[in-house]
Amino acid sequence: MAKIFEKISDKNHEQVVYCNDPSSGLKAIIAVHNTVLGPALGGCRMYPYKSEEDALVDVLRLSRGMTYKASISNLNLGGGKAVIIGDPNSDKSEVLLRSFGKFVQSLGGKYITAEDVGMTVHDMEFIRMETDHVTGIQRAMGGSGDPSILTALGVFVGMKAALKKRLNIQSLNGLKIGVQGFGKVGYYLCSHLNNEGAEIYGHDINDESLERVKNEFGVNPVSADDLMSMDLDVFSPCAMGAVINPTTIESLKCSVIAGAANNQLEKEDRDSKLLQEKEIMYVPDYVINAGGLMNVANELQGYNKEKAKYQVEGIYYILTRIFDYAANNNISTLEAANLLAERRIQDYIKWNHQ
Ligand code: NAD
Repeated sequence: MAKIFEKISDKNHEQVVYCNDPSSGLKAIIAVHNTVLGPALGGCRMYPYKSEEDALVDVLRLSRGMTYKASISNLNLGGGKAVIIGDPNSDKSEVLLRSFGKFVQSLGGKYITAEDVGMTVHDMEFIRMETDHVTGIQRAMGGSGDPSILTALGVFVGMKAALKKRLNIQSLNGLKIGVQGFGKVGYYLCSHLNNEGAEIYGHDINDESLERVKNEFGVNPVSADDLMSMDLDVFSPCAMGAVINPTTIESLKCSVIAGAANNQLEKEDRDSKLLQEKEIMYVPDYVINAGGLMNVANELQGYNKEKAKYQVEGIYYILTRIFDYAANNNISTLEAANLLAERRIQDYIKWNHQ
């Protein structure tokens, strides 16, 4: 028991709720990391964790990440996350989802749930039958719909902010951009890049996804290894995490890394410093990919597409501030983002206690 309190206290989590409902088979953990700026918003992940300990470690890590993401995005939201222990393909049912919804409701709005790995927008509709505190519903149901479109817009404007700071370039016309992964975000990103006249290179393990962007946006397919070692202005990881590590940093020849993938750095401290030394500008992933969060956050006040788009375009200015802060203090861009996110919360606490 003491060990669980140690883990919760270690990164200052406010509350961790274990949800157990034998009649539906639900075993879930909801972690509320920080609610200083507002209710803790974060997706619910369903995954067959090997142990309860693994589930706890994951939900604590993810919920803390959401606090930083909401703070740096200037949202009046805190950070939270939930995990359901189970296989989404075989263990998911209406009653399990509704049971989870009841637990969310019991927190009275302190935690707001949304879709994450192993969950779909349809699952959110069952959860919504039991709680008001859910976001990321389909457009047809009055929600914000697919977040990937605005995530891609955020990556595009974030890339431009980085190029302005690093190379003093305003337009992507004629620049060489390498994209890893042409899924939902990578696809929409290519559309922006193509419109602005960028030369796009890329790789995807799925041939159909690659073929589609080749035909629609003139993407030049390259091998996985070539993508990591060719001369590029920007490398844009839009597939999986941990692609940036000492080995790939050694081979990368680009000025900027700016992509949607979560947890791009294998080891944050080590790799952000290595990139700084190599003068590759790393755009912190949780800042540049916050368009999806801004989109679902917008739904909480009644979804307004134009407002959501305007907020996402603001990622350009959020990043410019981070780059300036990093340069002025000779720290990595990731450290700068973390410090500015923490500062917003601390400033709010001070102001609120005056
Ligand atoms: P997706 O599953 O639609 O697309 C991922 C693509 O990457 C697929 O086409 C897949 O074939 C490809 N891929 C997988 N492994 C690869 C590899 N080793 N090399 C090359 N390609 C590979 O996912 P998505 O929604 O486009 O999200 C992409 C990334 O951005 C993920 O890391 C996701 O967590 C992150 N992200 C997405 C959103 C969003 O709104 N969708 C928001 C924030 C962060």
